[in-house]
Amino acid sequence: TTVIKDEDNDDETIYDEEYSDPYEKVKKYKRSPRHKNKKHKNHHSTTELPETKTVPVEQPKDFPPSDEIYKYIMERAGPLAGIGTGDYVTFIDTTGKSPNNPNVIIMYCFYPKEDKSGLRTILHAYNWNSQMINAVSEKQSDILLMIPMLLKPISYGNITFTNNVQARPKIFLNYFDDSEDLNTYVKTVRFIEKFIDTKSFKKHNAKLVKVPDSTCDGLSYNSDDYWKCSLQRRASSCYHLSSTARMGDNILTSVVNYKLQVHGLENVRIADASVMPYTVNANIHATCVMIGEKCADRIKQYWKEKV
Ligand SMILES: Cc1cc2nc3c(=O)[nH]c(=O)nc-3n(C[C@H](O)[C@H](O)[C@H](O)COP(=O)(O)OP(=O)(O)OC[C@H]3O[C@@H](n4cnc5c(N)ncnc54)[C@H](O)[C@@H]3O)c2cc1C
Repeated sequence: TTVIKDEDNDDETIYDEEYSDPYEKVKKYKRSPRHKNKKHKNHHSTTELPETKTVPVEQPKDFPPSDEIYKYIMERAGPLAGIGTGDYVTFIDTTGKSPNNPNVIIMYCFYPKEDKSGLRTILHAYNWNSQMINAVSEKQSDILLMIPMLLKPISYGNITFTNNVQARPKIFLNYFDDSEDLNTYVKTVRFIEKFIDTKSFKKHNAKLVKVPDSTCDGLSYNSDDYWKCSLQRRASSCYHLSSTARMGDNILTSVVNYKLQVHGLENVRIADASVMPYTVNANIHATCVMIGEKCADRIKQYWKEKV
């Protein structure tokens, strides 16, 4: 195995000697500064994408309640005035070192006690079993679901494919390959505990709902080990997948150049989340749109100069 250091951006590419063509080398995994000093682990121990399932969404007949409709029409206020799920987010720094450069985002979904159907759907999507879903959704109270997401994960996955165009690529998500990511989640749980204890939450009589995860039976509920066990089973990317065709100058460590052209192919460009060198410190959709806009500008510029 050889390690090549990229002078431009401090990246390292690791490849086996058997690869002689530089484009072949690109297939091998890369190490970014964030991942330095990490030993590459066997990706076959990781989970493949689960089968997707269609979950019926039940809508109660009396929802939204008429007083909420009245409130919205008269005051433009109440739950109907929101944008639905994800009305607000919190950025936190669990390291305590860089409050202006957070490493976790907490997304919130509010479910009024009259309608838990959306809650059941989302928890199902996050791999909660029915016993756990029932423990939350049967509560006779409003529920504020907090969904933490790592903004600077250290673990990273990979995709392998062959020259058989009929074969599906294999996607290795590799969550928690680096245990530091699990530690960050546990710190986030501790942050949430303190957050719930603030005056603002207390005013609304907010309490954390205890939802025992039977797969972690034997571990004391709410211990660090309990959370590590439970979180590993319920982790998700929040659909924020990125960086599989990185942008950069070096053909060994990137797939597209800064004009988003695939290295060596002038007329093939990639403009999506895959070109991000690293995932962004936020939800990624706005950046995807920006990449698309930038690519459109580049293409216009290209033809302007050419014609
Ligand atoms: C359920 C869900 C909720 C999300 N919520 C948020 C959120 O709240 N905030 C946020 O910031 N991000 C959110 N995301 C993530 C965000 O939507 C994605 O990261 C973003 O849309 C990715 O953009 P993209 O351009 O890389 O890919 P996509 O938006 O997936 O675009 C790929 C396009 O390529 C097309 N395509 C695929 N194959 C072919 C082919 N062979 N030929 C031609 N066209 C093809 C597809 O039809 C699609 O239009 C969410 C994602 C999901 C799935």
